[in-house]
Amino acid sequence: MSDCIFCRIIKGEIPSDTIYEDGDMLAFRDITPQAPVHFLVIPKKHIGSLMEAEREDASLLGKLLHKAGELAAEQGCSERGARFVINCKSDGGQTVDHLHIHVLGGRMMMWPPG
Ligand code: AMP
Repeated sequence: MSDCIFCRIIKGEIPSDTIYEDGDMLAFRDITPQAPVHFLVIPKKHIGSLMEAEREDASLLGKLLHKAGELAAEQGCSERGARFVINCKSDGGQTVDHLHIHVLGGRMMMWPPG
């Protein structure tokens, strides 16, 4: 999608602090980090939100989650853990309409969310 900021990051039109890339996905540090570790894992396929994902995307979603866990460990969260968040649409607090998993770590997270 040409006007999607994350699609533009995937295409290299907007710079990002990338920590992982393969044929299916990209992981890069959030530009406004909310924790010492804060990066996003996104599919290269444009999917507007988790609720727009289709059944055929199930395997891709699994790959994204698995890689998010692996990268969290690599980024120093293996012992104390991390928070994995998917905001969805307006009530979910989604501001960029391209599915992304937030990975937050390096500090204690609060619950419930505000
Ligand atoms: P959400 O509010 O769940 O849709 O999350 C979108 C996230 O994307 C926010 O945490 C933003 O800080 C982050 N973000 C927006 N633009 C960029 C960018 N160019 N590079 C890295 N992260 C970004």
